[in-house]
Amino acid sequence: MTTNPRVRDWTEAELDVPGEVREVVRAPAPVLSTVGGSVDATDPAVVQLAADLVATMRVSPGCVGLAAPQVGVGAKVFCVDVSEHPKTREHHGTFVLCNAEVVSGSRNEKAREGCMSVPDFTGDVKRPSRIVVRGQLPGTGEEVELEAEAFEARALQHEIDHCDGLLFLDRAAGAHAVYARKTYL
Ligand SMILES: [Zn+2]
Repeated sequence: MTTNPRVRDWTEAELDVPGEVREVVRAPAPVLSTVGGSVDATDPAVVQLAADLVATMRVSPGCVGLAAPQVGVGAKVFCVDVSEHPKTREHHGTFVLCNAEVVSGSRNEKAREGCMSVPDFTGDVKRPSRIVVRGQLPGTGEEVELEAEAFEARALQHEIDHCDGLLFLDRAAGAHAVYARKTYL
């Protein structure tokens, strides 16, 4: 796996603004099914949004990623941090990407997903387990490309889906692949 050092070494301290914890919206809030707009990654409002996403992720137990639509903002910005998750293998730590897209993917794998915006259900979703993602870092706006695999690849695709107005429920094979959540983290 190619590890992008700019992404791996990034922390929210680079944003240089304190993040505020925002309320997480739940389905069926319309913003969750709206395609997010592209952003100017250097815009101070986007930098603040990035800091808020990280702050909100940090206070949410078990949360490995959060996208702008989940705090009510229809924009292509999300954060990911799978470093503390037991299913994680390799990872890039905490990072925020703007205007991200999956460039390529391979090796489909099915696994269970959950979401703070869909708190009562989990679902089996098939996704590539090795992907290349391209996006921009908030603040500097620099273009980065990273290769992710396994759990981090899944988290990235889940968040990029949010930015495109899709929930994991839209990716599940059908009602038989959706389960009532029995335990809460
Ligand atoms: Zn989600």
